Amino acid sequence: MHTIHDPALELDELDVAELGTWDTRAPAHHGGGYVAPGRRVLQIHDHIWAAQPETCTAAIRDTTWYLDGRLLLCNLCGLDGT
Ligand SMILES: [Zn+2]
Repeated sequence: MHTIHDPALELDELDVAELGTWDTRAPAHHGGGYVAPGRRVLQIHDHIWAAQPETCTAAIRDTTWYLDGRLLLCNLCGLDGT
């Protein structure tokens, strides 16, 4: 592992292996809303999200915390909102 401490890389350092894998695709937007650079969708094992970020209609608080509150994902598309 490298030792560069860049805030944008924090998510990469979060161990999500028990949950799933990060989508390599960078969402253009989240239901028309802004997506901060580096935010991605977590593809959870044995789960298919109901929407893509670009077509997501989830409410702003329609999210779930994972990994003891270290990771916040949209309930419809799995986009990281941490
Ligand atoms: Zn969403």
